[in-house]
Amino acid sequence: MTKFSDLKLHTKVLKAIDEVGYTDPTPIQAGAIPPALEGRDVLGIAQTGTGKTASFTLPMITLLNRGRARARMPRSLVLAPTRELAAQVAENFDLYAKYTKLTKALLIGGVSFKEQDQLIDKGVDVLIATPGRLLDHFERGKLILTDVKVMVVDEADRMLDMGFIPDIERIFGLTPFTRQTLFFSATMAPEIERITNTFLSNPERIEVARQATASETITQQVFELPGTRRDAQAKQKRDFLRKLIDQEGEKVTNGIIFCNRKVDVDIVAKSLKKYGHDAEPIHGDLDQSHRTRTLDGFRDGKIRFLVASDVAARGLDIPNVSHVFNFDVPSHAEDYVHRIGRTGRAGREGAAMMISTPRDEKLLAAIEDLIKTTIPRGDVGEQAAPASKPSEAEAAGEAEDKPKKSRSRSRSRSKKAEDAPVEAKVEEAAPEVKPEEAPKPEPRAEAKSDDKPKRSRSRGGRGNNDRGPKVVGLGDHLPDFIAHSFDERREAS
Ligand code: AMP
Repeated sequence: MTKFSDLKLHTKVLKAIDEVGYTDPTPIQAGAIPPALEGRDVLGIAQTGTGKTASFTLPMITLLNRGRARARMPRSLVLAPTRELAAQVAENFDLYAKYTKLTKALLIGGVSFKEQDQLIDKGVDVLIATPGRLLDHFERGKLILTDVKVMVVDEADRMLDMGFIPDIERIFGLTPFTRQTLFFSATMAPEIERITNTFLSNPERIEVARQATASETITQQVFELPGTRRDAQAKQKRDFLRKLIDQEGEKVTNGIIFCNRKVDVDIVAKSLKKYGHDAEPIHGDLDQSHRTRTLDGFRDGKIRFLVASDVAARGLDIPNVSHVFNFDVPSHAEDYVHRIGRTGRAGREGAAMMISTPRDEKLLAAIEDLIKTTIPRGDVGEQAAPASKPSEAEAAGEAEDKPKKSRSRSRSRSKKAEDAPVEAKVEEAAPEVKPEEAPKPEPRAEAKSDDKPKRSRSRGGRGNNDRGPKVVGLGDHLPDFIAHSFDERREAS
């Protein structure tokens, strides 16, 4: 078995690793570090939790240890799809570069340009950035990328989902042809394959097993609730979630609750709090400092439940989560794999519980197809009996997402809001949204506008299908120009 000391890393790096307490390299590290140190391009097919961050950070530090950065000309570049992931890479860098004199700057949205400019002006060895923010700095003339010797693209599949591939291509074009590229992706979609064929030169390809296939320590269960009216189903699910949490009792040391929609993240967190649970929401609409505070609180054990959207939680290194609750069946089967991968890490026991309804039948089948396992069915008990029978239209999804704005309804709502028990108030919070803000599935990845330059970004095919709620009066016959303006409005928001 390979030891870190066999890997020809700089002694200062070895010292830092030793202090962190790693004994042996993980498979992605053992596979990627030697070719990276030889100056070769690396294509790592691995996901979070495999130790991939160190697999590019450690050789980078070793390679950069000699030499010095010039003003505005970083010597290496790490691109990550989200602010949190970029910040996590920066944390890793600080840890492993502790005994070196290397400097870094983190370019992410939510941080002032001025502060970031000052760092770049001084000269940094490592620039860690989200693609949009990096291009914003470049366009302001603050950054020269012609001295980049090593470029890392992390989580390329997420970049693809977020529509960042044109930006990545552009950034590749701004760096020297002679640069070394370390490229990581959890999957090799055709578009990713194309990029690697175009920009990587004879890469060493290292593929490590997907975490979910290895995580036999996770006990999975799905709880199939009976069908009910769409507007009653959310409450039914929240009631059931609390029941699950109560049933698990002290076994739940902490947990992440995943929702498909940002609006539900807020509602579920609010509902849990009102019922005395220690829960906080995390999603892309919350500002950076809020998200950081919440995550730190969760990591430190001060917050017991994190209610999250996929992107907000993706890639975050939160060890020791006892439970993952899927409040919604994820719309993309692979997100199930990512979600449950938050528990049962590093050989620990973990529980993954998912709430499903008859409307989720197809999604559930797709997940079971992907993981080639029938998820054991849990006992839903009696409490989950249907609140009422769905009308035909509702069963067909006609009533979904319609803004409920009639005067009589809002009057009755304000009356109800005063009298109703806590849960009903939470329930009532949802219909207040305007049509363009109405609940819609969160895009698979969310990018704050400051992570994106406003220019050239074309919307991906998936995004174009999601045109938000139906327009009353026009029915399904939505003229294209209206749909277009919705998209643009959403993009601008
Ligand atoms: P990553 O896949 O980079 O997000 O890493 C997942 C977790 O594995 C992080 O908590 C790392 O600190 C940890 N880790 C990385 N390399 C090693 C190693 N060689 N031995 C033990 N833990 C590691």
